[in-house]
Order: sequence, then structure tokens, then C-alpha cells
Amino acid sequence: MSTLRFQAVRDAYQRQLQTAPEHQNRSELFASNVFDKKTMRAYLTQDAYAQVIQAIEKGTQIDRKVADHVAASMRDWALSKNATHYTHWFQPLTGATAEKHDAFFELTSDGLALENFDGSQLVQQEPDASSFPSGGIRNTFEARGYTAWDPTSPAFIYGTPLCIPTVFVSYTGEALDNKTPLLRALQAMDQAATGVAQYFDKNVSKVNATLGWEQEYFLIDKSLAHSRPDIVLTGRTLLGHAPAKGQQLDDHYFGSIPNRALSFMRELEHESMLLGIPVKTRHNEVAPNQFELAPIFEEANLSVDHNALLMDIMGKIASKHNFKVLLHEKPFAGINGSGKHNNWSLQTNTGVNLLSPGKTPMRNLQFLTFFINTIKAVNDNEALLRASVASAGNDHRLGANEAPPAIISVFIGKHLMKVLDDLENVSKGKLSPEEKTELKLNVVGKIPEILLDNTDRNRTSPFAFTGNKFEFRAVGSSANCANPMIVLNTIVAHQLKSFKTEVDKLVKAKKLKKDDAVFNVLREYIKQSRGILFEGDGYSDSWAKEAKRRGLSNTPKTPNALKARVSDKAIALFEEMGVMNKVETQARYEVQVEEYIMRIQIESRVLGDIARNHIIPTSVRYQNTLIENVSGLKTIYDEQYTKHASEQLELIEKISAHIANLNRGVTDMINARKKANAIAKAEERAQLYCNEVLPFFEQIRYHSDRLELMVDDELWSMVKYRELLFLR
Ligand code: ADP
Ligand code: MG
Repeated sequence: MSTLRFQAVRDAYQRQLQTAPEHQNRSELFASNVFDKKTMRAYLTQDAYAQVIQAIEKGTQIDRKVADHVAASMRDWALSKNATHYTHWFQPLTGATAEKHDAFFELTSDGLALENFDGSQLVQQEPDASSFPSGGIRNTFEARGYTAWDPTSPAFIYGTPLCIPTVFVSYTGEALDNKTPLLRALQAMDQAATGVAQYFDKNVSKVNATLGWEQEYFLIDKSLAHSRPDIVLTGRTLLGHAPAKGQQLDDHYFGSIPNRALSFMRELEHESMLLGIPVKTRHNEVAPNQFELAPIFEEANLSVDHNALLMDIMGKIASKHNFKVLLHEKPFAGINGSGKHNNWSLQTNTGVNLLSPGKTPMRNLQFLTFFINTIKAVNDNEALLRASVASAGNDHRLGANEAPPAIISVFIGKHLMKVLDDLENVSKGKLSPEEKTELKLNVVGKIPEILLDNTDRNRTSPFAFTGNKFEFRAVGSSANCANPMIVLNTIVAHQLKSFKTEVDKLVKAKKLKKDDAVFNVLREYIKQSRGILFEGDGYSDSWAKEAKRRGLSNTPKTPNALKARVSDKAIALFEEMGVMNKVETQARYEVQVEEYIMRIQIESRVLGDIARNHIIPTSVRYQNTLIENVSGLKTIYDEQYTKHASEQLELIEKISAHIANLNRGVTDMINARKKANAIAKAEERAQLYCNEVLPFFEQIRYHSDRLELMVDDELWSMVKYRELLFLR
């Protein structure tokens, strides 16, 4: 082991356990650093409280006087919690979170110091935002964008600043962030779903989309991680031979959590509790050093914010515990990558989960309505849904037989499949009384029972119904959930809107009863959506063939997958639903294409550097000792030396060959990069990066990993997989 590597590994093994916060009753801790309803009630006047609640629930405006009062109350509360600064907290198109701290501290004109924070500072700020990606919305010479308070996501304190969740928009009104289109999509969903839910219950006046994500991640010792330039700069390993023991024994999944990791988790959960993130589940994942954390589901906007916040604080707390947390979708070759399942449903203000079957036939007809409309929406927009999870990192997972394939399909289980078969056979037009009774008793009426024993879960499906929600499993672990949530909620909202139009038309034109009309439309939807339903093995080659026959898209690479974001259909859909105008849609596409290029470019540079500055010099050094050895043998044995040096000679030759191939690979890769960089159009450049630069990664890695197996361990400078991966 090289000296540096030895020191890093020794440090890792000798780490003292960092102390985690003392155990405290979670319900007492919960949200104590959040300016939530409970706190607002204590700090605000009754009128102001009512206005804020109305703004949260109905999207109404908050007037200036009330905003001033809310700001002053927030400040008092924040100061009582030892906050010193405030910041608008937003999510630019980088997918990460952004903040800029300002002190409450101010000087008056006559030189008095005071702590100030008023309504205008709460409601609007103008960060110098010229260096956030905008995909051409904003020219840099008029780089003006502003952040505006989102009262639906409560302010919180993390560390010293009071953080105020905000949207980020340009002065011309275009969204520069992920939150703005998400809020618009959720509003479209509320409107469309409420309209349909009122068929079944007149008391429904609001429908919220709900999201419960499951965050997977790796924990790596900090000094080991820092010894590898690839982990530091790209979040993943670009080289490294698989260890003798990987995950083949399946001994990590749900196994006992290593103490160091547990101590990190306890602190993370403690902090999450204070911030009102309702974390509930923790366990080991399939791969060594891989873990998962999941909260109780929440309203989607809040849940998206909470995930973004969590990813941020994970890094900070990990560092305190001498870990580096890897959120990359594929940090290690040959070992499972990480995803972030998005569990999604719809909840009414009357407390009903619209994707949960109930006790009465009416409730179940309602369930089937939302269930089938969701399937139809996915059927009609599968390529767009695939595009919503496309990223350079996620390309390593989708289609790699460990995560769902790049083909979108819906799994519902054989019992619900049977329900759909039965519903597809209802007669056209008015249903006979016998048919209705039969449906009520044996189809719609039976759903809750059959779901109870519906245990057949298909792990290979990207979009699976799991009893009372859909689980979108293709989302990458580092993704901001806003993207998939914008798309999913927009397509389902659009679908529900069409459904309502069709049902109303049938009721009016054919004088059908509402139930009959609902059955009629659903029957047609089932027929039209057969192509998206798939119960088999999503990893199999036969499915890829079958999916092609069905006309489903299969785009494993991001540059191709992203195109669906800017199809005429997608642009029209976002426009019709008031989620994004054409410029906003195109801007996001541009930002994502650029991001793809940059990721591959950075990885490619790092890979070239490591190959030439670490792998080749180390291999040459080892080869020199072999050469020295051979010369020595020659002096001893004269002509006879080859008999004694045959292994060494073979090794010398092999090493030379690998070095030559490695070096040629790097040269060719650099040339491919130059060729790509000369292309002006980003879309075409991304294709070149994908098809002509990326393929060299495998080739370079192959030769490096062979050399790793040959070269004296003592000389090898890069920390090896076996040292990175097994936490003590
Ligand atoms: P698993 O899928 O691992 O068996 P659960 O069914 O308990 O576990 O739920 C997994 C995730 O689904 C959790 O994050 C949970 O919050 C979320 N979830 C449960 N119900 C809903 C719902 N109605 N809407 C959105 N997410 C939900
Ligand atoms: Mg799950």
C-alpha cells in the first residue's frame, strides 16, 4: 500500500465515533425550527394568521401591512432562536438550492444599531442571479431576476439564517427555477382533480398531490473519498477494480447498520425533525455502504423542498462525522446504484386518498376513475415522463438491470388487471340494471378485498401501483424531485381535464346518467391504454422487443431522451395547463443539455488526468522494478536467465501493452472532445459527447483496472474499492 493510501485507510479505520444528539421524543422536537402554523398562531394577530392561511390554501395575495407584521413576527421568532441572518432560499435550474445571507443587523440614519426585517424584505429580493443557468431566458446584460416568498412552504432556521422558501423569476415573468412551474402544475392538478372528485363528493373543494420520496445514498469515509480526484470532482469513481467481495452475499441489505453510519443517521434525523422533515424509515440498502432514508409523505411542494433541503444538510452533517455522502446515481461500477422512488398520490381536503380503494362502490368508482386516468396519462406521455428523469448520472441506472429500464410502463398487479378486463367489457351507452348490480357486487365492490392480498410486487417496473399510491421508481438519487413532479402532475391534470369534458359531454348529449357516462369513458381509456400496462420482467430482452412492437419509446441516453421535453406536443401541453410557456420549456431543455455536456466533459478530463498522472507513472515505476529484476537475473544466470525471468518478461510486456492502450485511449478521447467542442449547437455537441467521448471511458477503465491487478499494491496510489466500501 502506498504511504498516502496507507495513511488515509488507517485514519478511516481509527476514526472516533462522533457523538449524535441525545435521544429526545420526536414529537416534541418536530418542526421546532419551523415557522409553521402552530408558531404563526402564537406570533401573529388573528387577522394576519387568517390571511396567511388563506394565501396558503387558496393562493390569495397578502397585503403589505400584513406582510410587514408577518416579517416582524418571523424576525422576533428567529432572534429568539439565535438566528442572526435571513435568506431567500430557492432552487435555480442547477437542481441544487441557493441562498445568500443578509444580517438582520442594520444602522439607522442617526447611527443606531437595530435588528430589522420588514415586509418588503420578506416578500421580494433581487439576488445577483446572472450566473445561474437560465437557458437563454435572461440575457446577461439585463440579468435581473427576483425571488418572491412562497407562503405554502414555511420558513425555517438551519444554522444561523432564517430561510424563506421562494420562487425565482425573471423581471419579464419567466420562471428561472424549479418551484414556479411545480406550483403551477400543482394548481392545475388541484383544479382538474377537484372537478372530477366533485362527481363523487360535492364537499371536495381542494385536491393536493402528495409525494413521499425514498432517498438512497452511499457513505464513504471522508479522507478516503478525498484521496480520489474522481470522487471529489465528479461524485463517482471513474476507475477501480471490483473487490473480491461485492454485494454477492446479499449481506448488507437490511443488515445491522454500522455504528459510525448510525451515529450520522441519528444526527441527520434529529436535524430533519427540527426542520419539520418527517423522516421515518432508515435501513441498509443492497450495496455495501449504501443506505436509504424515507419520510412520511407530504403535500408535493413541501415534500420537494424537504428533499432538496435534506440533500443539502446530509452533506454538512456527513462532513461532521468524517463522511462524504455520495448522492450520485452510480458511484461504483459493478455495485448497485442509487435511486429516489417518488411515491405519489392525490388527497382531498376531506381527507380521502383518491388512489386508495374504499368500502363503498361509489368510493371505488372514484378510485378507479383516478387510477385509470393516471394510467392513461402515463400511456399518452411516456416519453415525456422518461425525459423528466434523464441525467448523465441516471443513464448508468436506467436499463442497466438493477433499476427500472429506460422504457416506461405501468405495473398494477393481476387483480387490478382483472378489474380492468371486466370494466372493458361493460356495454356501450346506458348500462342495464343487472349489469350495474354485477359491477357493483363483483367488480367495483370487490376491490378492497383483493388489494389486501395483492402482494405481487414487481421490482422491475418503473411506475408501479402499490395499493394506495403510484411509485415512480426511475427518479435518480441526486435529482430534484420537482422535475418528475412537474411532469407527472401536469399530464395527469391534463388527462383529468379531458376526462371531465368527455363525461360532461356524454351526460349532456346522450342523456346518460353520470355513472354510466363515467363507465363509458373509462372503458375507452382502458382500451387505449393497454400498451403501457406490463406485468412481466422489465429487465428481459423480450420486453425491449415487445415494447418496441407496442410503440413505446426506449431511450437509454439522456441527449435523446430529453428531446421529448420540447416536442410540439409537450410544449402545447405545458402551455395549455399554464405550467410553462414555450420559452420556459425550451430554456429548461437547453439547461439540461448543457448540464449533460458539462458533466461528461468534467468526467472525461478527470479520467484523462488520473490515467496520465496516476495510473501510467505508477505502472511505469512497477515495470522498472521488474526490469531491474530481469537485469539482475541476467547477471546471475547469463544466457539461462529467460528460464528464470519468463513471468517477469511477460508482465513487462503486458504492462507495456496496457500503458500503450491506456495512453492511446486518452489521446483519442481528447481528440473526440476537441471535435465535440468545435460544434456550436449544444444539442449536437451533446450527441458527440454521448456517442464519441463517453465510449472511451470503458476502454480506458478496462486497461487501468487490469493494471491495478498487476501493479504492486505498495505502489498503487488510488484508494481501492475494497478500502472505500466496507465501513467499520
Ligand atoms: P414500501 O414502499 O417501502 O413498502 P410504504 O408503502 O410504507 O413502504 O411507503 C413508502 C413511501 O411511500 C414512504 O415514503 C411513504 O411516505 C410513501 N407514501 C405512502 N402513502 C403515500 C401517499 N398517499 N402519497 C404519497 N406517498 C405515500
Ligand atoms: Mg419503494
